[in-house]
Amino acid sequence: MEHKQLDKASLAALLTSLMAEQTVFAPVLRDGVSTFDVLADIGDLAFPADGIPRVAPKQAVMPRTEVLFYYRLGKNTEKMAPPPPAEPQVLFGVHPCDVQAIKVLDAVFGAEPHPDELYLARRRVTTVVGLGVSQESVPQHRFFEKMGISSMDARDCDLFLTPLADETYVLEVLTEQGQQLLELAGELPCADAVALANVGKLRKAAEERVTREIDVDVLQEKLSGMFESEMWAGIADKCVGCGACAYLCPTCHCFDIQDERRGDTGSRVRNWDTCQFEEFTKHASGHNPRTSQHGRARQRIMHKFEYGYRNFGIPFCTGCGRCIGVCPVNNNLLTMLDGIRKSDPPSESDGSPTSPDEL
Ligand code: SF4
Ligand code: SF4
Repeated sequence: MEHKQLDKASLAALLTSLMAEQTVFAPVLRDGVSTFDVLADIGDLAFPADGIPRVAPKQAVMPRTEVLFYYRLGKNTEKMAPPPPAEPQVLFGVHPCDVQAIKVLDAVFGAEPHPDELYLARRRVTTVVGLGVSQESVPQHRFFEKMGISSMDARDCDLFLTPLADETYVLEVLTEQGQQLLELAGELPCADAVALANVGKLRKAAEERVTREIDVDVLQEKLSGMFESEMWAGIADKCVGCGACAYLCPTCHCFDIQDERRGDTGSRVRNWDTCQFEEFTKHASGHNPRTSQHGRARQRIMHKFEYGYRNFGIPFCTGCGRCIGVCPVNNNLLTMLDGIRKSDPPSESDGSPTSPDEL
C-alpha cells in the first residue's frame, strides 16, 4: 500500500489537477454554511474542524433532483432519451461516518431484484477520498464513536487523507481506482517514516475513543415490539414536521417522482422527499395511510434501526448528529435511543403493523 506525503502547496496542486479532469466535490463554505459541494476554486476548500459539514456528501451520489428520462407525447407516448451518462467525480475529504452513509445508500440502491442503474452508474465513476480527523473530543451531538466508527477509519475509501499537525498530509492509496485517480496528479513524494508513525499513532488514538456503546442489535429487538409505544406521541408532540432532519441526514433516501411537462415534451424527475411529510404517503386515490406525525416520527426511527437493519444488516444511521444539530424543537435522537434501550422488553401483542392503515 502506497503512502504519499503532501504539504499545503502540493495538496492544492493535487486538487487543481483533479479539478481539471473531473468534478470534485469537497467541504466548502456556502453563505457561511459548511457544505459538501462542487469545488469550483481551491480557495473555497474548508474542512470543518470536526470533519463533518452540515450538508452531507449524499447529494453527490443521490442528487436532490435528477432526470430519469425525457419523453415526447404523441399518438403513442415515446420515451425520447435517457439522461446523459454519469461523469467521473471525486468526493474529496469525506468523514468516515459519511463514508459509512454512502455504504448504506449503496446497499439500498444496489439491492436486487431492482438495483437502481442510475445510482450505480454514478457510483462506479465516483472515487472516494476519506478524511481522517484527529480531534480528541467531538461535539456532544455527534455519536459515531458510540456507533463503532472511528474518525480515522479508512475502510471503504479509495484514498484516505490524514492531516498532521504541521500542515502536512499523508495520502494513503487503498484501491486501484484510487491509484488511477492519483496518476492524474503526476509524481508525488512518498511519505517519510516520521509521518507514517504519526498516522499510526493518530489511528490508534482514534480507535481507542470508539466506545460502541450503542448496540444496534438491542435497539432492533426492542423496536420490534414498540410499534404501539407511547414514546412516538411524545416525540411527535414536539415535531413540526419540517423534514430538516431527513434532508440533512446522509442516509435518508426517500424520493418522489414527478413529471415536468411543457407542451408535448417532458421529463420524469426524481426529487428528494421525506417520510416526515404528510403528502409522502398519500395515494393517487386520495387515501393516506399515515396521517399523523406520530406515525411519521415512528417510521423514521423504525426504518433506521429496525426495518433497515433487519433487511440490510447495516443500521441506517451513522451517528453523524446532523439531525440533532438542526432540529428546531430539539428532538434528540440520542435521547430517543436511550429511551428505546431502557424500554420494557417487547410483548407478543405489541409488534409489527397488522394492516396497511397502521403504517
Ligand atoms: S439519523 Fe441523524 S445521526 Fe443518524 S445518520 Fe441521520 S442525521 Fe446522522
Ligand atoms: S427536524 Fe425536528 S421538527 Fe423537523 S421533522 Fe425532524 S424531528 Fe421534526
